[in-house]
Amino acid sequence: MGISRRDIIKTTAIAGAGAVAGGVIGARVAAQPAGPAPLTWDREADVVVIGSGATGLTAALRARQAGASVIVVEVNSDIGGHAICSGANLPLGGGTSFQKRAGIEDSADLVFRDLTDWSIVQPNGFPDYRYNDREIIRAFADNCAPTFEWLVGLGVKFIKDTPDGRAGSSHGNSVPRQMHVAIQHYPRVQTGTPMPQEEQMTFQSGNGLMRPIEEGARKAGVEILLEHRMTALHRESPHAGRILGIAAEHNGAKLNIRARKAVVLGTGGSTGNVNFRRMFDPRLTEEYCGLAGMPWSDQDASGELAGMAVGAALWGLYNQTAELGSVLTKAGSIGCQYGYVNLTWYPGSRVFDKAGSQGLEVADWQNVIMVNMLGKRFYDETGDDFTGNQYNQVKNYVQDSYLNAKNMPFNPNNFLNAAMAGIGDGHNGGGPIWAIFDADAAAREKWNPTPPFVDVANGFFFSADSVADLAGKIAMKYQRVPMPPADLEATVARYNSFVDIGVDADFGKPAPKYKIATPPFYAAWSTPVLHDTRAGLRINAKCQVVDMNGAVIPGLYCGGESAGGFSMHGLARATCQGFIAGAEAAAETVSA
Ligand SMILES: Cc1cc2nc3c(=O)[nH]c(=O)nc-3n(C[C@H](O)[C@H](O)[C@H](O)COP(=O)(O)OP(=O)(O)OC[C@H]3O[C@@H](n4cnc5c(N)ncnc54)[C@H](O)[C@@H]3O)c2cc1C
Repeated sequence: MGISRRDIIKTTAIAGAGAVAGGVIGARVAAQPAGPAPLTWDREADVVVIGSGATGLTAALRARQAGASVIVVEVNSDIGGHAICSGANLPLGGGTSFQKRAGIEDSADLVFRDLTDWSIVQPNGFPDYRYNDREIIRAFADNCAPTFEWLVGLGVKFIKDTPDGRAGSSHGNSVPRQMHVAIQHYPRVQTGTPMPQEEQMTFQSGNGLMRPIEEGARKAGVEILLEHRMTALHRESPHAGRILGIAAEHNGAKLNIRARKAVVLGTGGSTGNVNFRRMFDPRLTEEYCGLAGMPWSDQDASGELAGMAVGAALWGLYNQTAELGSVLTKAGSIGCQYGYVNLTWYPGSRVFDKAGSQGLEVADWQNVIMVNMLGKRFYDETGDDFTGNQYNQVKNYVQDSYLNAKNMPFNPNNFLNAAMAGIGDGHNGGGPIWAIFDADAAAREKWNPTPPFVDVANGFFFSADSVADLAGKIAMKYQRVPMPPADLEATVARYNSFVDIGVDADFGKPAPKYKIATPPFYAAWSTPVLHDTRAGLRINAKCQVVDMNGAVIPGLYCGGESAGGFSMHGLARATCQGFIAGAEAAAETVSA
């Protein structure tokens, strides 16, 4: 390998997540008494992509197809990120071949106007698109259909040929755009095995999205370095000049990877980083430990922190704070740490040991009451999540019409806000929420309340023969104060009296149905689950990262959940921005 000016950078900036934390980035770049040591490179490629999820792998293959050599750095021992765990509802419209065949008239302009429509509000009054960055949405709109056709070309298949408006959120009200990816023959990361053959084209899953992209990338010569964590970005000087490459760690060893053209950050967001997420909502303290997509992959803000350390700005912060879509969700499964409604980890999964249990999926919230740390109810248990705009949600929709907001009935669902209200002791977070039920409820739901369905070992599930004993048993690291047994007894007795009269005088649960009276009694973890990141690094239409002065950081790109300015759940935004970033990164011209 020849050595040029960029191979040894005498005044190299060492900046990134480690630098923010005050740590040393890597042995080869550790500060020396006489000034920084020269930077040497262990590996190099034209484009270095961080993360092998929806953004990263898409960017990697796109860059490779454009002629660049590509290295992907992935901290996990398999590819896919949250995308591979996902339900693969994929709202890429804008005039796709599938929309055309179904007689649906869509266009890039319609997508753009839908996703910037100021007049759309949710039943809780939150506007879905008002704070979207027009430049970013324009780029998405223009690349929506091309991204979709590119995925089809890679062999991604769908459970039906007609787009609809089902599931997902925030994909515009005008026309159906949502496609649903079929799993095909690929093993599910949730179970470790493929679906039965007869279900391979009817079962939707992110495995059917990410494996074809992976196959395409590997075949094209993209090199994927698994179990490699990007710890920092190298820039010519701390807040000026080009991005030169990254620092990474692998099995305890530190290495530097040079990016001759660019680095693309596809690190998947920040929701798993307690300090980072609390910038958006101070209530989100440690007890919200059940992030959707974990323990397959985290959202630790490493991309955002590395970008900020070299001067990048954050962007579109309202979209993360607003009560929209699936940023924060009610637990769909109880008695386990990771209770996201659309993700169950089964014993065959590679990550089942870390997940701890499968969880008990709740079919009817009439079967439980939910209490806080003090054993007190706080809301109607049948209450649900925040909503997000999708096809046909606003009836008689006319783009940009004041009537859209006027026609939306104000009907806030405050289950999550009530859950996070806490116990009035000055703590910011709401603390653990427990679902309390009895043996009859378990029978009605056909639950088997023992491991591996519930996580007893890690304190996410308790049982006892009396309500008072149950309260006394609840002890785990986030239960800051003991639950007074008499309080839980009083709560259960009062709720049972509501069942007698058919009216919930405290929280208006519609016709409370079942008493909690038959031992054994159970307490199952049901604390709200964090999901999306919708704010991150500032990018422009090319997905180039922009600094605090509004200037592009040369050689740095970002997309997906680590990028800001775009209020939309998931895969469409991530794949489309990876599609853009990969091509743009490969097209960078760098003077010697
Ligand atoms: C259960 C579930 C269901 C979902 N269902 C849907 C759905 O139906 N429709 C939809 O549109 N969206 C869905 N989503 C959301 C969607 O999966 C994500 O929005 C999307 O995957 C985000 O893409 P990304 O590239 O930003 O991040 P990811 O796909 O999560 O990829 C990020 C990758 O970066 C890696 N990484 C992070 N930091 C580093 C580092 N420092 N060094 C190296 N690697 C790093 C991670 O390990 C990960 O592999 C779902 C998500 C989950 C969890």
